[in-house]
Amino acid sequence: MNDPILVLNCGSSSIKFALVSTSPDQPRLAGLAERLGGEEARLTGVDGAGHEFSCPLHGASHTEAMAAIFERLEGLHPVAVGHRIVHGGEQFTQAARIDDVVVAAIKATTALAPLHNPANLAGVKATLELFPDLPQVAVFDTAFHQTLPPRAYRYALPEGLYRNHGIRRYGFHGSSHAYVSARLDALSGRLHGGWLIAHLGNGCSTCAVWQGHSVDTSMGLTPLEGLVMGTRSGDVDPGLHAHLARQLGWSLERIDTLLNKESGLLGLSGLSNDMRRLEQAAAEHHAGAELAIEVFCYRVAKSLAALSCTLPRLDGIAFTAGIGENASAVRARVIEQLPHFGLRLAAKANAATVGGREGRIDLDQGGPQLWVIPTDEEGRIAEETRQLLQEHPYDAT
Ligand code: AMP
Repeated sequence: MNDPILVLNCGSSSIKFALVSTSPDQPRLAGLAERLGGEEARLTGVDGAGHEFSCPLHGASHTEAMAAIFERLEGLHPVAVGHRIVHGGEQFTQAARIDDVVVAAIKATTALAPLHNPANLAGVKATLELFPDLPQVAVFDTAFHQTLPPRAYRYALPEGLYRNHGIRRYGFHGSSHAYVSARLDALSGRLHGGWLIAHLGNGCSTCAVWQGHSVDTSMGLTPLEGLVMGTRSGDVDPGLHAHLARQLGWSLERIDTLLNKESGLLGLSGLSNDMRRLEQAAAEHHAGAELAIEVFCYRVAKSLAALSCTLPRLDGIAFTAGIGENASAVRARVIEQLPHFGLRLAAKANAATVGGREGRIDLDQGGPQLWVIPTDEEGRIAEETRQLLQEHPYDAT
């Protein structure tokens, strides 16, 4: 049996990890190695017995941090490693067993994800160095959206930019949307239906799913397109870039920082990128926080309405990720702004379905359903890793 699977999400200075088992008796060991390369580097997490741990890693590299993570696994030897890889370009429509060819293909998409893919590959390299015999699988954030039709993935730009440079919409949060879509199939009694999913966390995206396949999504070439996020602007007029450059003399780097790190909820509120903080401040009538929440909810509703036109039938809407799972007032405000969908929110169920609870939050009157589904990206990455190794058992030794 392919169990347990170590799931790794490597950033430029951090490694998020989780040991995922199919056995419900085995609690998930999970944690984070952060500030790698610096004196402040640390490994924190929760062990198999549910106890928190924290230890210094003084200047550790990715490889050294990975060795410390494996030490922490306390005899629970992973049979394989599933790596979250942000960008798979058009080449990867599903998970892939990592070998030289796959590594080269991931490297080739670096231009599309210059910050993420090299960091993801550093994690792959470190794991291969330490455990050359352990099967490793790449699970791509973009893969679930490779079923988008051209009308959804093409920008209205000259063909050559798409053909020669891969300029198109890819979409992200694929493991989350795929997980939620599978849960909806399992729970809703409406197998192979038409669903809208709102992944609302620090990063936010919507996805339209028809018969289990992504048919449109709000993120594009990069994870900047679409909704208002914690610090990302989401959609702005593309003319803004030229305007800032010409009128204010801003460089590309400056504009990139503005749109990715200084905008979104943080930029609008002038206060915080954290929805919890903004809800508190709005309750005290902080004008910036009130505006940020209002724009955030309106943009989610607008995106869901836009994506709905790709579905032959709307079976329901699901909310997931930090804000989607916990901020019941945000969910209510989004639904309020979609009166033409015939949605019937159950106020009590909505207020109660927080803190990792899964459940329906509509009045069950036969119309489109409303769900809160806590996402499990790590579980999905482990599942895809397991499936791939089961389908190719001879590779798994
Ligand atoms: P994620 O990226 O999925 O971890 O989501 C992070 C976002 O979820 C942040 O904006 C948090 O403020 C928000 N969040 C987490 N818990 C709550 C909560 N109880 N109420 C409102 N927002 C929350």
